[in-house]
Amino acid sequence: LYVTGDLSPGAAVAPTLDQSRYLTQVMRLKAGDELLVFNGRDGEWRAAIAEVLKKGVILRAEAQTRPQTLGPDLELIVAVVKKARVETIVEKAAELGARRVRLVLTKRTNADRIRLDRLDAIAEEAAEQTGRLDVPRIDDPIKLDALLDGWEAGRRLMFCDETGGAPAIRALTAAVQGFQDQKWSILIGPEGGFSPEEGERLRALPFTTAVSLGPRILRADTAAIAAMTLWQAAVGD
Ligand code: SAM
Repeated sequence: LYVTGDLSPGAAVAPTLDQSRYLTQVMRLKAGDELLVFNGRDGEWRAAIAEVLKKGVILRAEAQTRPQTLGPDLELIVAVVKKARVETIVEKAAELGARRVRLVLTKRTNADRIRLDRLDAIAEEAAEQTGRLDVPRIDDPIKLDALLDGWEAGRRLMFCDETGGAPAIRALTAAVQGFQDQKWSILIGPEGGFSPEEGERLRALPFTTAVSLGPRILRADTAAIAAMTLWQAAVGD
């Protein structure tokens, strides 16, 4: 179970009301029963239900069962698309091991309003499901140009380019040679694709590897899943 409070021996932790209902009504847990909890920082802990109150349950952390771990340094950068698709993308990014999801605004983005609190909750639940102990961070939308202007040194960009990138596995396998740190970002464009100027700028950047995900044009959510899977096959897990 994902919790927000700090975890240390004896610490009291209060799950949300929804989580409390899930524990008592779906899982049928009672005072004294044990479960595993994590908060994205302190590893995984065995905790016991200390109290069942009207306002929710109180857990007491007992002992750490796994130390904190951090997955690969993989970011997913996606143009803001329809709300439901952004939610799918965040869920799948959490399942497939992305450490961070950055939303970008491009020329052809027509954005639904983004609710970061909802996206955070989706990421937390998906992380919980996979057994990973870190939770991906979701960033507020930022303009593509601003994001590229502030690019982190040493980070590589897997630019998913349906207008003519090289086959992904081949291009990535070549690109990983000679780099010790594999810090990567995957970039997926909006429904209408990148504008010609954006495509040109992206391809010309020294840290870019432009890749194709195959001869068919994929929807942004499908492209994100395919790209993360191919990245894992070529670079790491
Ligand atoms: N330009 C498009 C059009 O015809 O309107 C479609 C863009 S596609 C729906 C959304 C994004 O998914 C693209 O910007 C690209 O990043 C990624 N994508 C989709 N299919 C792809 C492919 N076969 N190879 C590489 N990237 C792809």
